[in-house]
Amino acid sequence: MNNEIPIGSFVRTQAIINRYFVHAKKNLGQNFLVDLDAIQGIVQAAEIKPDDQVIEIGPGIGSLTEQLLLAGAKVFAYEVDESLPEILHNELPAKVNGALLQDRFKLLLKDILKADFAKDLSGFFDMNKPVKVVANLPYYITTPIIFFLNQSDLNFTSLTLMMQQEVAERLGAQPNSKEYGPLTIAVQTQMSVRNALTVKSSSFIPRPKVDSCVVVLKPLADKPDVGDVKHFNWVVKMCFAQRRKTLNNNLKNLVSDSDERARIIAAIGVEPRIRPEQLQIAQFIQLAKEIPAAD
Ligand code: SAM
Repeated sequence: MNNEIPIGSFVRTQAIINRYFVHAKKNLGQNFLVDLDAIQGIVQAAEIKPDDQVIEIGPGIGSLTEQLLLAGAKVFAYEVDESLPEILHNELPAKVNGALLQDRFKLLLKDILKADFAKDLSGFFDMNKPVKVVANLPYYITTPIIFFLNQSDLNFTSLTLMMQQEVAERLGAQPNSKEYGPLTIAVQTQMSVRNALTVKSSSFIPRPKVDSCVVVLKPLADKPDVGDVKHFNWVVKMCFAQRRKTLNNNLKNLVSDSDERARIIAAIGVEPRIRPEQLQIAQFIQLAKEIPAAD
């Protein structure tokens, strides 16, 4: 293999696919990036600096991983496809910026949704320093991954995530829109949201149906006090269980007593017939505090 040509180039990716008989697995959300401008765009959006500690979710055949390493990052990757470690170890450069690959890159075959960051990362990362998360996300679990990171105790300075445009729109949505919902509220109470770039579906093998968007999420310096984050996210989810129904109707699953529901709705200063998407984030915060946590 000519390792001078980046993995993220169409020619090199095609050669790797032919050499290892790679069949992109649809059930694992495999769409490999073959657009060096887009890959560089992700690395720039993540503001990668030498010795940054980066968690990559789903390195695939390594197109983004390679550029993260070349930019100086130390990369810890979670992957579930057992056929990929061999490819990554053969195809990523044996030395990066003078260091051995194994000192700069570690792969763990593990579902990101089962990550135990304190345990997984120790021994490879300096646990006193924060990390950055960078990923071209597997689209079938984009939302669970964002919730998982949002509710984890991972000490991160940014999440730079490629996702379908439709999910990116939900992250930045405002009340009274169809995109506004539990994901919007979970994210906006914890993080700032910036759409960094759009990537055409033609930049992937195989081509997904829709274009993608790279979104940069950074923890807010001044987070509103939502109480317990998991409880807050759960209450919001329940409020949107049937988004065409009124808040009062949705609350029936959380508070069975009608007088108590009436009291809670009055306490947050809204009409019982209001629909969940009409509530401001501050009102959801008040609401979650009125509802007892489940055991
Ligand atoms: N980073 C590569 C790229 O940009 O070409 C591949 C991105 S592909 C959209 C998503 C990757 O996530 C695949 O390699 C897939 O096997 C992996 N993946 C799927 N489910 C996963 C999970 N639960 N945990 C970790 N990785 C996962």
